[in-house]
Amino acid sequence: MTYFIETYGCQMNKAESAALVLVLHEQGWSAAPSGADADLVLINTCTVRATAETRVRGRVAFYAALKKKRCCTLIVTGCAASQLKTAQGVDYTLETNARSLFPALLRALETGIPFVADAEKPVFAFSSAHLAEGSFKSFVPIMHGCNNFCTYCIVPYVRGPEISRDPSAILREIELLAAKGVREICLLGQNVNSYHWDSGSESFSFARLLRLIVTEIEQTPIRWVRFLSANPKDFSLQTLEVMAAHPVLCRHLHLCVQHGSNRILAAMNRLYTREQYLELVKKIREYMPDITLSTDILIGFPGETEDDLALTVDLMEQVRFIYAFMYHYNRRVGTAADQFPDHVPDLLKRERLARIIALQKQHTQEYLRNRIGESAPVLVERSSPKNPDELLCRTAQDEMVVTAGPASLIGSFAVVQLLSLQGNTFRGLRLTG
Ligand code: SF4
Repeated sequence: MTYFIETYGCQMNKAESAALVLVLHEQGWSAAPSGADADLVLINTCTVRATAETRVRGRVAFYAALKKKRCCTLIVTGCAASQLKTAQGVDYTLETNARSLFPALLRALETGIPFVADAEKPVFAFSSAHLAEGSFKSFVPIMHGCNNFCTYCIVPYVRGPEISRDPSAILREIELLAAKGVREICLLGQNVNSYHWDSGSESFSFARLLRLIVTEIEQTPIRWVRFLSANPKDFSLQTLEVMAAHPVLCRHLHLCVQHGSNRILAAMNRLYTREQYLELVKKIREYMPDITLSTDILIGFPGETEDDLALTVDLMEQVRFIYAFMYHYNRRVGTAADQFPDHVPDLLKRERLARIIALQKQHTQEYLRNRIGESAPVLVERSSPKNPDELLCRTAQDEMVVTAGPASLIGSFAVVQLLSLQGNTFRGLRLTG
């Protein structure tokens, strides 16, 4: 039997889709070239922003129409699964805490017996492996869910409270990845550095887990470790010490700030101030001067004034992010901010966002231009879609470089000299590798 999977949203969804594909292959299913040819279509959904949910609803409607012409099963999973339970054409939904039911659901499809879930509420369980077939990079989820209830965010409602993964299960997955020749891993979590495991007799902080992982991978092909996304409120000095002591931990951090005004940060329930964020950035750079920082910025939160925006601009000027994911606030039913007064008019939100985007573009270009002439280790990721004789590579600082070379180098490390810039991508000369 054949399947086709569509994945929307964050890295966590990508990791979870890779885990579902592993289960499908274990049970003898094979990939179909498109959803139109598949016996089973899986849509792994995102509901963080209204636009993501609208897109997913469009895909469900597309398959509902297709099912009128040919028979297939449509399963919706991910953060929007509960909202799409009754959508036309959907046969089953698997919420994020019910993934462990997937093998039984597949067996039911194979035998044609309708699937009935246990009456008991399923408990979230981490998948044991998340490696996409043929890949030399892998996500490794280490925690799931969120306790923070930022007032604009739907994630704690759809993913539930934070659960940290047993360190021995994390190490087992990493061992497996090393045996498959994986070169880079990325530890994942909604608030990855809030990781906390307590077995009763022993406890592991994020810093302790990092130390364990870097020791574990010393004699393996895994040479780079990243983690996503870090929450500033839980960033400890111990984590910085481990990072600084182990260059295998890449010199790039995605440290979500969301806003530069204390008034807005408090209304968002972010639990840190701009001063604390800036102090953390200063410390990070003291420990690792060559690190790059990226972030998320949310513009147009209810009550935001021009003064609040000016504080965000000021914070951006001080930090100089290498890049930022910038978006404007949109209402999510069920979140606290939906009920707040003083919603910023749409046009004004867009106009403010455009100003922030223009500023970030300028910062990105300034940073990248200053790097020209330097050399940097890179991991060769893929052939350039524009020219098969060129390779797309990524630095430890999360910069993209295009350089000449054969496809046989994909998945290996090289050193390149950064010669010039084309947009936000360097053109580089391969020195070694
Ligand atoms: S920390 Fe805030 S923004 Fe991030 S997932 Fe949790 S509630 Fe959402």
